[in-house]
Amino acid sequence: MTRKKIVLVGGGFAGVEAVIEYHKEKLEDLADIIWIDKNGRFEYLPALPELISEKVSVEDVTGDLEKFAAKFGVEFHRDTVEEVDLDGRTVKTKSGLTLDYDFLILAVGAEPTFFNIKGRENTYPAYHLDDYLKIIDALRELELSKKPRIVVVGAGLTGVEVAGELVDYVKKRSAVADIYVVEKVGKAVPFLGNEKASKLVEEYLKSRGVNFLFGKGVTEIKLDGVVLEDGYFLESNMVIWTAGVAPNSLVKNLNLPKKGRGWVVVKPTIQVEGYEEVYAPGDINCAIFDSDVAMKMAEEAMLQAKVAITNIKRTIEGKTLVKHRIAFSVRSPKSLISLGGNQAVLVYGRRFAHRGRLPYIIKKIYVEKRYMSRFKD
Ligand SMILES: Cc1cc2nc3c(=O)[nH]c(=O)nc-3n(C[C@H](O)[C@H](O)[C@H](O)COP(=O)(O)OP(=O)(O)OC[C@H]3O[C@@H](n4cnc5c(N)ncnc54)[C@H](O)[C@@H]3O)c2cc1C
Repeated sequence: MTRKKIVLVGGGFAGVEAVIEYHKEKLEDLADIIWIDKNGRFEYLPALPELISEKVSVEDVTGDLEKFAAKFGVEFHRDTVEEVDLDGRTVKTKSGLTLDYDFLILAVGAEPTFFNIKGRENTYPAYHLDDYLKIIDALRELELSKKPRIVVVGAGLTGVEVAGELVDYVKKRSAVADIYVVEKVGKAVPFLGNEKASKLVEEYLKSRGVNFLFGKGVTEIKLDGVVLEDGYFLESNMVIWTAGVAPNSLVKNLNLPKKGRGWVVVKPTIQVEGYEEVYAPGDINCAIFDSDVAMKMAEEAMLQAKVAITNIKRTIEGKTLVKHRIAFSVRSPKSLISLGGNQAVLVYGRRFAHRGRLPYIIKKIYVEKRYMSRFKD
């Protein structure tokens, strides 16, 4: 049997898991993987907000993908995939590589979106490592002696975590700042659909001095503040944007089936509808199976990547494909939300939520440290 070629694009949670599973499943006996990531580093996105308060360093939350690939005998390129020819089954990269494939795994994740709001150049998105490095530089420019105002747009997971770390940043310098979180929906972490979690997050952050403005969307970001839907102008020295995500721009021009903001529609096998040889695990997709919607979460991305590898192997072997069962779903959310001050909220399902130090320890030691140990020599 001729060896098959797999091109794997993306070195985030899904991409890394695909490489591990490739080895575990012994798919290496049947196929070669060429792995491409534009940064050449894994970024542990859930811990990036803690860069603000210096609880973690860049080294703590990143992993060298080339070294990691070498451990598994996988060919790695630090490069950006710019084009995919779905009919010709080739990908083209920024550096000029053209690679053909029998199977393509598109694990390119999501990116921030600004919903065409005016003044995006006046705000700091909080998504990737480079974003946080810019936020840290901008914070250093603020004159803390003048009690600056920092506005965080969005009270989703990232927004509330960033607000909590801003409190710790300011406290560490024995200073005071006016921290606002502006959220269009009427509560914190609304997407979780867990009233208790929303309340716990709001109460705790309020007790730490964070102000919330609920039910007000931002319509424009100016150099000196934000304009809200009702015309109110909230003055600010710095605006951090966490209010929306969209699919990675690589898929924008690809003629794949899409939903919502352009999320790639996948079947329970994690194959893209209409393209049996293309798999799209993780944040890039819209995974709705049995009327359950997958959340855009790290572990969900990892589980989907495992299924993608299993199914590539089963396709080569002529076996029936397996179906992914959504583990992190909108119907039954699970999350650990860190809020600064060594506290986190554990969310399990739509009813249970608990705030304390233990959820924070679980998030840091059992989840983050354990995960990142895979990048250590
Ligand atoms: C600030 C923040 C906090 C979060 N907190 C949590 C949390 O507490 N718990 C949780 O479960 N989830 C959390 N998430 C969500 C979680 O991080 C994502 O669900 C997860 O990263 C998705 O994995 P992925 O592999 O699909 O995408 P990503 O991890 O985003 O990886 C995509 C990869 O693709 C690469 N790439 C993109 N385009 C190209 C291209 N054209 N060519 C080559 N490479 C490319 C990127 O460099 C990146 O390495 C958080 C996300 C953010 C932003």
